[in-house]
Amino acid sequence: MNCYLCERVLPFLPSWRGLFFNDFQQVICEKCKSGFERISGVVCPMCGSASEGLCKDCLYWETTEYAGLLRSGTSLYYYNEAMKDYLHQYKFLKDIVLSEVFVSELRNELSRTKAIIVPVPMHPHKMKERTFSQVDCILDAAGLSYSHYLTKSEQVQGKKTKRERMSTPDLFFWNGRAVPEKILLVDDLYTTGTTIRHAAKELKKAGAVEISFFTLIRG
Ligand SMILES: [Zn+2]
Ligand SMILES: [Zn+2]
Repeated sequence: MNCYLCERVLPFLPSWRGLFFNDFQQVICEKCKSGFERISGVVCPMCGSASEGLCKDCLYWETTEYAGLLRSGTSLYYYNEAMKDYLHQYKFLKDIVLSEVFVSELRNELSRTKAIIVPVPMHPHKMKERTFSQVDCILDAAGLSYSHYLTKSEQVQGKKTKRERMSTPDLFFWNGRAVPEKILLVDDLYTTGTTIRHAAKELKKAGAVEISFFTLIRG
């Protein structure tokens, strides 16, 4: 087998290791893997970025109507060059197989959660172009179960007046299914925090009590 990212030959993992140790066959080589940088040390308790205490972004969010929505957040990797390359291949070359790259890390982080995992949904139009929802694929590959309670709204930013854009329309709406009390929102990339907070706001309105989130990458 060869590395999905650089084609280098990978060491063979005997299948019994998978049976007894829950190991997965690595799909990328150590060199490619070492390009991804884990976030470590002191982090913001609300979003998981490197910061002592609440980071500047979260401090800002806590002054808005989105204050108090999130209990905690974790992000695993920095959005460095290696990660940008990975996301480029994954999202735009539709290489579904790459969803297996972070299987072990995801299982380590998420398999013991007592909350219900809720993937941040993708816009239905985008889904058509891309043919798959990457967050669902990543969770499927890791064998983690999840439920959807949100649908992405049909807002098209470009057709709005400036004033309409400034008022930040809701990005999601509730799909009507009974919402569990404890939710762990999962997304691939956290950049401004807008997506996660919009999703959390809608879930809280629908009855969720405790919302945390997990993202693979922190932009
Ligand atoms: Zn490689
Ligand atoms: Zn933060």
